[in-house]
Amino acid sequence: MTLRLVLGDQLTRGLSALQGLGAGDVVLMVEVAEEASYVPHHKQKLALIFSAMRHFAQSLREEGVTVDYVTLDHPDNSGSFGGEVARAVARHKPSELVVTEAAEWRVLQMMQGWQGRFGLPVQIRDDDRFFCSRADFAQLTAAKKTGRMEYFYREMRRRSGLLMQDGAPTGGQWNFDPENRKSLPKGLRPPARLRFVPDATTREVLAMVEQRFSGNFGDLAGFGWAVTRTEALQALQDFIDNALPQFGDYQDAMKAGEDFLFHGLISPYLNCGLLQPREVCAAAEAAFAAGRAPINAVEGFVRQVLGWREYVRGIYWTEMPAYAASNHLGAVRDLPAFYWTGATQMRCMSECIGVTQRTGYAHHIQRLMVTGNFALLAGIEPAQIEAWYLAVYVDAYDWVELPNVHGMVCHADGGRLGSKPYAASGAYIDRMSDYCGGCAYDVKQKLGAGACPFNYLYWNFLIANEPVLARNPRMALAYKNLARLDRAPIVAQAQAFLAGDPMLAQGGLGI
Ligand SMILES: Cc1cc2nc3c(=O)[nH]c(=O)nc-3n(C[C@H](O)[C@H](O)[C@H](O)COP(=O)(O)OP(=O)(O)OC[C@H]3O[C@@H](n4cnc5c(N)ncnc54)[C@H](O)[C@@H]3O)c2cc1C
Ligand code: SF4
Repeated sequence: MTLRLVLGDQLTRGLSALQGLGAGDVVLMVEVAEEASYVPHHKQKLALIFSAMRHFAQSLREEGVTVDYVTLDHPDNSGSFGGEVARAVARHKPSELVVTEAAEWRVLQMMQGWQGRFGLPVQIRDDDRFFCSRADFAQLTAAKKTGRMEYFYREMRRRSGLLMQDGAPTGGQWNFDPENRKSLPKGLRPPARLRFVPDATTREVLAMVEQRFSGNFGDLAGFGWAVTRTEALQALQDFIDNALPQFGDYQDAMKAGEDFLFHGLISPYLNCGLLQPREVCAAAEAAFAAGRAPINAVEGFVRQVLGWREYVRGIYWTEMPAYAASNHLGAVRDLPAFYWTGATQMRCMSECIGVTQRTGYAHHIQRLMVTGNFALLAGIEPAQIEAWYLAVYVDAYDWVELPNVHGMVCHADGGRLGSKPYAASGAYIDRMSDYCGGCAYDVKQKLGAGACPFNYLYWNFLIANEPVLARNPRMALAYKNLARLDRAPIVAQAQAFLAGDPMLAQGGLGI
């Protein structure tokens, strides 16, 4: 018989490791403490993955498949993938082990040592759930077609045929991003979103998570994520019908108290295998074809999934393991404690951390331009802020979190992912949100008591990193503007704030 291992982010019936499943084969699924605790994952993230795993195992059993499922609290559970595969090999004495390549570099390294360790043939199959395989991305890199996301994305449009008509992009242009930066008009209410009531299996998992991980970040109370493929498909349909039409217009907007706006809420399902990237893009394209969503929304959405998601995965696999170690801007500051509590007078930060505590979610601009922007401007050590992002989001897995944080937020990769740092002053946050209205700081004030910290931290960031960034042509305008300013008071106030001096900077990192 063949032993087939299915990991918690491989919950796909058509998974390569399940192809050719024979009558006598055993599917192994394991909940292991090592994976559940290598960062202090949000409680909802743990609950989502364990519940989705248990439901997936049940659906296989209903098909007549033999599933050997080891729960986290099983008394003999060794706590690691390697230990659990070893125990299963001893139990079932398989002639072969079949796995799908792990999405994470660390786990794939582990898998590659299993043949020697267990003394039986181990087949590591490609993960064919992406548009672009690792080998294809490497080829595109060699052909210099992945230098920037935009060119990679166009190549993927051509290859997939998505939003293409007679070899040209549907709507006459590749990218409608300039139309997708509107702030939310007063009075526009985003639609209520489909959430799911926990069933008995999920309730059992919620109780286990509350008991074993009570000190972890995040609330469990509002858990409403889909945990089966059927529910994930319903969540996708809800997005397509109710939010996609305005997804493009308000993609970058932020509003206090509105947790989801017009976003997809599908990354947790894509990343654990309940939904496939091809079907979500096809659903969006079909909505456009039927006249139910405009091109700027549909192209904007497809670009995120076909472009960004595939691109960051490609960067991860072509650059690891060296990628994680770089620190281009030499950032070394410790992560402030308020990232774990939301207790800060900066309203934008407390709102974005607050939604994450409640739901395990924040949308892209909250992650990039608020919590990420602050970490960049404050010079937080990349590894510390990466560990935070990996812990707090229900959709966070190393292969997708790391390039987004290390590259896009911290610019620690020296520009491999983004050609310039996404640094912005308070004016950007004010333009795209309603946060500043209720803030203890004044966004219009550049310096002095009460000035918005993002303002002087922004200029201080440019000053501190001038030797590295001033040569970047995309930073030329920022440095031209800096030349008009008196640097000394900016640096003094930024340093006081970063040192947590309450007299000089009304608060600071200490609060
Ligand atoms: C600092 C930072 C950390 C991030 N960490 C993660 C992470 O751990 N896991 C994760 O899935 N996404 C991550 N993202 C990307 C993005 O923020 C989330 O995919 C998105 O917010 C998920 O919500 P949604 O499904 O409502 O997305 P929507 O706004 O509806 O977008 C649709 C889909 O596009 C994909 N997508 C969009 N942007 C990206 C991107 N930059 N990288 C990869 N996929 C993208 C996602 O699959 C998403 O579901 C991160 C972005 C930043 C800036
Ligand atoms: S004033 Fe500054 S700190 Fe306050 S919400 Fe606006 S950008 Fe954030």
